[in-house]
Amino acid sequence: MEFDLIELIRTRCSVARADVRLGIGDDAALLLPPAGHELAVSTDTLVAGVHFPLGTSARDLGWKALAVNLSDLAAMGATPAWALLSLTLPDSAREFVDGFAQGFAELAAQHGVALVGGDTTRGPLAVGVTVHGFVPPGRALRRDGARAGDLVFVTGTLGDAAAGLRCLDRADVRAAALFNAPPDTREVLVGRLNRPTPRIAAGSALRELASACIDVSDGLLADLGHVAARSGVGIELDADSLPASSALLALFERDERLLLQAAGGDDYELAFCVPPTRAGDVQRDLARIGGGATRIGRVVEGERVRVFDRDGAELVFERGGWNHFA
Ligand code: ADP
Ligand code: MG
Repeated sequence: MEFDLIELIRTRCSVARADVRLGIGDDAALLLPPAGHELAVSTDTLVAGVHFPLGTSARDLGWKALAVNLSDLAAMGATPAWALLSLTLPDSAREFVDGFAQGFAELAAQHGVALVGGDTTRGPLAVGVTVHGFVPPGRALRRDGARAGDLVFVTGTLGDAAAGLRCLDRADVRAAALFNAPPDTREVLVGRLNRPTPRIAAGSALRELASACIDVSDGLLADLGHVAARSGVGIELDADSLPASSALLALFERDERLLLQAAGGDDYELAFCVPPTRAGDVQRDLARIGGGATRIGRVVEGERVRVFDRDGAELVFERGGWNHFA
């Protein structure tokens, strides 16, 4: 049974790489990292009902489980190469595994990631993925490099995934209105929740520009808070400069929208700091890879992340994102 499942996963995820000397099927994989590069390694687990709604399709979950991990490599400026997959599954999971492997394989193929091993066990649904990538020595983007005077940017738009989650939440006070929203608007937002795009190309491009970088998984304020703490600086954000998609603008008024953008999670965009002398190159370098970023604030001496409106008044958020232990 388990063997069948592993075989199913193996055939679905068939990216071939010359640096995989031995993949799925032995006691360990044998891999050949490129000479002179650093290996970036990261792992993330998704638990049903905690990290994704119970109704999430297997296929979306396969995509998302890999996407959130690739996003961590993107935030380091690393180029992804290999993945390991730990599946904890309830009984009779063949149909689930089939869909899951398809979603996983779709994204793996886009980035040339080879699935080289994993583990399969019985229990309440949980999915753990470990990814490996390469980065030129000393060039990784870290959280601790921001300096006072740097400018702060973010790729893409913020708050869409959190808005998508609200569109799915039948208990939401605005559920009726959200359910009646134009289907394409809802689909865009729910799609951003279920199928996040890891900003791999942007991360690589930013290696030459950014002083610090993080991917926005728990919410912009919480995640930039990590950059501020690790770098020993403060960060000031301009509320009205936070980028919003047209779908978000269509469904949420300013106050609600700001909360989603600043504290909503699951965006998987890159938030990064750039020294003022290089800030002018950000748009050009990201345009080259078909991306873009919005300037949202500045690094200052001090600590913490603070948000200001157009008149310079500080906006205080009740909580700076989703704290899983709260
Ligand atoms: P072992 O008992 O040596 O841990 P397993 O039976 O757990 O071996 O796994 C057999 C092979 O299948 C190993 O190469 C392992 O890496 C791979 N494998 C197991 N589960 C998965 C999975 N969910 N995804 C990918 N590879 C897996
Ligand atoms: Mg095992």
